[in-house]
Parts: sequence; C-alpha cells; structure tokens
Amino acid sequence: MSIMVPSKTPALITPGQQALDSALHQLNQAAAHLGLDDGLRTMLATPRRSLTVSVPVRRENGRMDVVQGFRVQHNVSRGPAKGGIRFHPSTDIHEVTALAMWMTWKCALVGIPYGGAKGGVAVDPGALTTIELERLTRRYVNEILPLIGPEKDIPAPDVGTDEQTMAWIMDTYSVNAGYSVPGVVTGKPMTLGGSLGRTGSTSRGVQIAALAALGRSPEGVTVAVQGFGKVGALAAQYLSDEGCKVVAVSDVTGALYAPGGLDVARVRAWVAETGGVAGYPHADAMAHDDLFELDVDVLVPAALEGVITAANAPRVRARLIVEGANGPTTPEADEILAANGTTVVPDILANAGGVIVSYLEWVQNMQAFSWSSREVEVKLRDLMEGAFAEVKSMSAERGLTLREAAHVIGVGRVAEAHSMRGLYP
Ligand code: NAD
Repeated sequence: MSIMVPSKTPALITPGQQALDSALHQLNQAAAHLGLDDGLRTMLATPRRSLTVSVPVRRENGRMDVVQGFRVQHNVSRGPAKGGIRFHPSTDIHEVTALAMWMTWKCALVGIPYGGAKGGVAVDPGALTTIELERLTRRYVNEILPLIGPEKDIPAPDVGTDEQTMAWIMDTYSVNAGYSVPGVVTGKPMTLGGSLGRTGSTSRGVQIAALAALGRSPEGVTVAVQGFGKVGALAAQYLSDEGCKVVAVSDVTGALYAPGGLDVARVRAWVAETGGVAGYPHADAMAHDDLFELDVDVLVPAALEGVITAANAPRVRARLIVEGANGPTTPEADEILAANGTTVVPDILANAGGVIVSYLEWVQNMQAFSWSSREVEVKLRDLMEGAFAEVKSMSAERGLTLREAAHVIGVGRVAEAHSMRGLYP
C-alpha cells in the first residue's frame, strides 16, 4: 500500500500542501524501493510531534496582532530533532511538516546523529520593527519551549531569520532555564558560542556539491541563482571565486542578467546598501521567471519551494540544477528534467552543508570547546564529498536519479534505526 497523498483541485492547493505532497511522493518512492512494510511507511509519513501556537505581538503603535506559529518534529529515532525556523507570511503547518521530513532524511544521508524538525511563523519580518521582531521571536519561543532543548530539538536560521533571531532564542531559553544554554540553537553569533564557518556553510556545501556534480573545471561555467539571500548570495560568491561566471541572480525585488558575468561581490554590496538586487546599475533587469529558462550550465534555486514545475521544466536549459533551497522542484518537473537529461543534485544533499556545520557548532557547545575555521571546513568537505559519492554510486548501481538515490539512503537509515530500536511498548 502506498501512503495516501490527498487529491485536491490545483486551485485549492497551497504552496505548503504542494510541498508536503512532494515530500510524501518522494518518501513513497523510496519506501517502495526499500520494500518497507505499511506500518513503517505510515510512521515515516507522519510527524512525531506537531505544535501550532498563537503568537500575540505588541506593535510599537500600541496595537496587538496575533500570528500563527508552528514547530514540527518529524522524527527523532536517530537523535534530537534539528531544523530551522522560518518567518514568512505564507508558511503553514503543511510546509513546516514537509521541511521537517526533508530534515530527517538529510541528517541521515550525511550521517549526523539528528532527527528532523522545522519551525515557522506566518509573518512578514520585513513589515515589523526590530523591537517587534524581538517580541515576536521571544513569545514564539516561549510557546514552543516545552519542545526545544539541546538534547531534544535544536532550531537554526532559515528564510527570514538570522543570527540575531538565534541570539534572542538562546537568551529566552536560557532565562527560563536560569543559566546559559548555547546548545539550544545553532547559527548563533560567534560571541554567544557560534561556530566559525557556520555563516557560509550551506552555500559552501552548495559549491562543493556543484563542483562534484560538474566533474570538470569550473572555469567559465555559467551559473544562474534564484534567491539572493543567506544561501544564494554566498553560493554565487563561492562559485564565482572558483572561476564560474554568474550571469543571473534574483531576489524578491527583481532579477539581474549580465551575459558577461556579474561581479558578485559588488551585487552583494549593492544589496547590503539598498535591500535588494533591483536597480543594480551594471546588469540588465529581467523578468523573474526568465531566470529558469536561461541557457546556462548550472541553475541554483535558492529561494522557496515549488518553483520548478511541470509548467516551466520543459523550458529549463541548464544541464545541472543544484538545489540550494528545500523542495524547489516538484515531482512532475523531476520527471521532465530526467527525461531531458538534466542532472538534479537534490536539496537533501546539496544544501546539507548548513546542518552539518550546525551539528559541529552543537558539538562544540556541548563540549564548551571550539574548532578553527580550517577544522570546520575540512569536516564539512569530508561529510559533503562522502555523501555525494555514496549518492552517486547508489544512483549508478540501481539506475536511480540522484534524488531517488539520496532518499533511498536517507529513508533507509531511518527505517533501520526504527527496526533496531523496536517499538515501545
Ligand atoms: P533568506 O531569507 O536569507 O533568503 C531568501 C531569498 O529568496 C531572499 O533573497 C528573497 O528575496 C528571495 N526570494 C523570495 N522569493 C523569491 C522569488 N519569488 N524570486 C526570487 N527570489 C525570491 O533565506 P535562506 O536562508 O537563504 O534560505 C533560502 C532557501 O534555502 C530556503 O529554501 C531554505 O529552507 C534553504 N536552506 C537554508 C539554509 C540556511 O542555512 N539558511 C540551510 C539549508 C537550506
């Protein structure tokens, strides 16, 4: 029996439900390949714990707004739950569940002892003042306090959150505990127990995965990056540093195209100054959707889910897609890309650098110890390259796409952990 993916008329499907459908579809495929029984499949398709909270926020103008927040622990069979917190207006329980599930497979795939979790607050952080954001963060953390802790569930940054958010979370948790607990979150500022190398770790992982998949010199390889935030901007920078020619980037404010190549450092400086890529003077403006159809060697989606779909996949000309974002490609698009010979390095492999260095940060916190940036980079590279090699060889041996192979490995390891632990009572 396969896991039921509820059928809905497309107009009624929210982006979150679409993401969860994709995650369940990928789980179904892996479970079928592994021959998992119905009970185990259902257990893996269902989050272990799922919490929805109301978060009242006192605005600076005296008004009170109430927004919804979520924390989902998908699976904890291999260790504490781990996963980012997203502040985005369209986040919902379905999206957070999908993202938590992908975290479970990702941690298992790269061999770190965590389960998967994710959190979210349905809010536009750009519409709040810093004081309001701090109040929102602290109240949300207070509402999910029973779930989180360094041995239970460890949040990290995701879309719309950053080091400052993590510092507020660490402080709120610590004040409640009565002592400092740096290991409750990762992606913290250095001064509060952050790790060297964490800031650019997801992007460094994207760069390592891209170069491994390219299998040739990066010199002159053309790249387009959708999403110029924490992951996308540094992925563009690192690929450019390796000799790639980044010809297009986009963010929520606009999209840029420069066939001769962008000076990524200058674009980053422009964004730091103006808040977005729009208006950058040394490139042409382009429609957002055109970025996916550029004739480039490598396409890096690094924004949100469900952006490469059955509608635009037939027009994708990139030879290689490296998923910086979680869930950017729908299963229907996957089939079209595979038929067209496009290689997709899947999210649970390509963007695992972030959770790898989060794990290293947590290990350092638990031991009250710190590693040099070189030590962190070597460990990150070893784990990324090791996971990439495993996925590639599984894909070649069994005739699977890289995504299918990555899921077979990740889901297989979690299933094995369940079998070894047995079922209580
Ligand atoms: P972020 O908030 O720092 O950046 C998101 C970027 O996407 C912003 O530049 C935003 O303007 C842009 N964007 C949003 N909608 C867009 C659109 N329609 N078109 C073009 N650009 C758009 O978030 P982030 O942390 O960089 O996360 C990006 C993705 O990477 C998410 O899918 C996230 O889950 C995933 N991810 C993040 C990390 C991490 O360490 N931060 C780790 C693993 C995976």
